Amino acid sequence: MDLLSKKAHAIAPYTAGEQFRDKQYVKLNTNENPYPPSPRVREALSALNAEELRLYPRPDAGLLRAAVARKEGVLPENVFCGNGSDEVLALSFPAFFDADGAGACFADITYSFYEVFAAFFGIPKKIVPLSSDFTLDLGAMRRQDCRGYYIANPNAPTGIGIGRAEMEAFVASVPEKLVVLDEAYMDFFGESCAPLTKRYANLLVVKTFSKSYSLAGIRCGYAVGNAALIGGLMRMKDCFNSYPVDAVAEAVCAAAVADGAYHAEAVRKVVSEREHLRAELVRRGFFVPESGANFLFAGRGARGGQELYEGLKARGVLVRYWKKPVLDDFVRITVGTREQDDALLEKLDELLTSE
Ligand code: PMP
Repeated sequence: MDLLSKKAHAIAPYTAGEQFRDKQYVKLNTNENPYPPSPRVREALSALNAEELRLYPRPDAGLLRAAVARKEGVLPENVFCGNGSDEVLALSFPAFFDADGAGACFADITYSFYEVFAAFFGIPKKIVPLSSDFTLDLGAMRRQDCRGYYIANPNAPTGIGIGRAEMEAFVASVPEKLVVLDEAYMDFFGESCAPLTKRYANLLVVKTFSKSYSLAGIRCGYAVGNAALIGGLMRMKDCFNSYPVDAVAEAVCAAAVADGAYHAEAVRKVVSEREHLRAELVRRGFFVPESGANFLFAGRGARGGQELYEGLKARGVLVRYWKKPVLDDFVRITVGTREQDDALLEKLDELLTSE
């Protein structure tokens, strides 16, 4: 007997990076932050009253909404919080796109969850190839007949960022279309378009606590946009899960977002280490586009991504690899601590001399 739906059989789900708990790897494969979250997170956890967990949390994560609104310089009605930015992105598809509409446009090489969400919700997709230098072809995207766009900025897995002025020009040039900017890695680039949501009703900016705030384990992300867009996300949330942000996540993230000084310092350390690691990879003959994220996209023509991935894994270092055209020349390496990055480079040297 087969009780699964046609959709459950047919859909190709997103494949997340490996999360081993058995073996101690130098884990540079899922863009987690190598530094701990703000000490205020521990304080918030200690201050939690376990007895209060018998109550449902705030349905709109109101406490966190207010904290995020303060940080982003908007009103709480301009913020939507969800169970990871993946959930926020997922809800945006049915909130803003129709199965019989003009569809969602995104790049061929970008965060692969967009394609999964489009398939899941039956939304038509318009795919635009990256330019030969791996940058987004915004001109070609602008010319697409579509209802809106998904743009990861900085893009994944290339790490390449687009400056605020160029992004604003794009948003202004498509006033009738929605632009969803996925700024999961933006804190490492510093050109967020979140302030522009006050001027552009067609702009929704999505961010996460998983990367720059070192809170991947808590599963929390948010969107910033005008109240009509946020209202659409709220309606979709209330069709799936009334309480996507649990009480622990809400308290922890509100504490983290209020500790701006700690956040800025953690970002500074990652960015400085990223530049060091990139220089070391380039010195070893790798092609590595300049990154605005907390990872590097590294390729070395002669040796495919798979060999690098497998060789490093055998030596106890995990990086990310995709068995797909173009991407299979590369690996994506999350920036670690100096110690982790030294371990990576040492194993890489071992691998390269064993050629
Ligand atoms: N957007 C991009 C571009 C990502 O790489 C990720 C992390 N896989 C996410 C969104 C989702 O992050 P999270 O659900 O942890 O907030």
